[in-house]
This record gives sequence, C-alpha cells and structure tokens, in this order.
Amino acid sequence: MRIARCPRCGASTRLDAGNPWRPFCGERCKLIDLGEWFGERFGIPAESHDQEASTPDQVPSPSPRS
Ligand SMILES: [Zn+2]
Repeated sequence: MRIARCPRCGASTRLDAGNPWRPFCGERCKLIDLGEWFGERFGIPAESHDQEASTPDQVPSPSPRS
C-alpha cells in the first residue's frame, strides 16, 4: 500500500481505497482543508486589506512637521 504524508498535519496516511479521506489522514483534516479552501475563495477581504496596508503612498497623511 502507498504511504504519504497528510498535507494537512503531516501524519503518515494511506493512499489506497482503505482510506476514504486520502490524501488526508482522516475526516478532520479533509474538512479542515476544505474549510480553508472555501475560506480562500470567499475570504478575499483579507487579501485586499493587506494590499491597502502595503500601499501607504496612496494615503494622504497629514504631516505634522509642515
Ligand atoms: Zn492529517
């Protein structure tokens, strides 16, 4: 049988029909991975927020030294 590492937690997991959750080690890891996938699909605000924070040049900031 083929053994691989669970992409979620790194535990050894089987990659054959005996493991219905392959390539994950179990139901929990598979559901967590799916949840993160959906989170990425619908959780885009996090990324746009990051871009806003990384572009301070575009933000007119009052300079107290002027
Ligand atoms: Zn796992």
